[in-house]
Amino acid sequence: MDLSFLSGEIEELKEKGRYRFLRRVSGPQDAVVRIEGADRLNFSSNNYLGLANHPAVVDALVEHAGMYGVGSGASRLICGHMDIHAELEDEVARLKGTEAALTFSAGYMANLGILSTLGGPDATIFSDELNHASIVDGCRLARARVEVYRHSDAEHLSDLLRRSAARRRIVVTDGVFSMDGDIAPLPDIVEAKERYGAILVVDDAHATGVLPPNGRGTADLFGVRDRVDIQMGTFSKALGTYGAYIGTTRAMVDYFINKCRPFIFNTGLPPALAGATLAAIKLLSKEPAILESLWRNQKAFRAEMEARGRTVASRTAIVPILVGGDKETMTVSKTLFDRGVFVHGIRPPTVPEGTGRLRLTLMATHTQDMIRTAASQIDLALKEQGIGPNGIAQA
Ligand code: PMP
Repeated sequence: MDLSFLSGEIEELKEKGRYRFLRRVSGPQDAVVRIEGADRLNFSSNNYLGLANHPAVVDALVEHAGMYGVGSGASRLICGHMDIHAELEDEVARLKGTEAALTFSAGYMANLGILSTLGGPDATIFSDELNHASIVDGCRLARARVEVYRHSDAEHLSDLLRRSAARRRIVVTDGVFSMDGDIAPLPDIVEAKERYGAILVVDDAHATGVLPPNGRGTADLFGVRDRVDIQMGTFSKALGTYGAYIGTTRAMVDYFINKCRPFIFNTGLPPALAGATLAAIKLLSKEPAILESLWRNQKAFRAEMEARGRTVASRTAIVPILVGGDKETMTVSKTLFDRGVFVHGIRPPTVPEGTGRLRLTLMATHTQDMIRTAASQIDLALKEQGIGPNGIAQA
């Protein structure tokens, strides 16, 4: 077998500035992380609330490993459904304000599961053009027609829905977009889906544990919890653990337990992780100061950037800083890395062509000093590359 395509394609990626590689982190996802022998300010982690290494969450993990062991030993339908899974699902349902909830071993798996279970030849999926890759792949697995609507454009969505003759229509959107940090216009999307009798799925991976008033997600922020059919989300971001959930009706959960292949044929979430996640959700309501600190830091970073003449539109923990070209994006990111600030560069195909960017993430555990340092270093690195005040490289 000729394997020369491997090095050939890797060379091509390098030439285009699209080569990806792993950076090795030594230690927990703190506001300061040790990478490749040096401490760097961490503005790249989805550990928004600092719960990934919060003592109460770590203790819960250890405690539940002691009670249940490490692995769940089987798929949930065989003998991997333990008390702690049921307790966690009740708590998730409370958090999301839904009748029931079901957990998955990852968000990627949940999105594959939702769309492949509800899809099929009679269905059309209406998907925002900037939805996460796991939704895109879920659409592929669904064997359904897929209509992509312009980003957050509920009018375009309505238009496509009106023209569709599909027997089943599924609308799917990120709640907070993973690479842009903007919030989907849920009230308008809900109107459209109700007018045309569609099922609405909202991916709250970056909304749960982040959005006001208390981190319950996008539907809660807009007061439309009863009008979203499936609220999906992950435990791996603000909640600091691993795994995912859907919050929905009991009938939908029952249907998924019977029909959803990524649920049925996958080993259950490790029980210790379920216990740690339960502790993280409880912390969210017990200690609102953690969430408030994230918002304060978001505001502080915005103010620091604006003081330097750079606009920040995002109101969430994800702040995109547009650069434009792939190579330029990676140069700015590398310069910052060398100066002790870790802000990951994001390029196509993760984002559309020509919109390479730094994807900065804020954490509740950043100090004001860290935020000021990051803003001034970012401003300097952008200036050195001739990147203007509103992002995009100047000609
Ligand atoms: N949806 C969105 C919007 C995401 O950002 C991610 C994670 N990057 C996922 C789903 C997948 O979640 P997980 O990492 O748990 O597989």
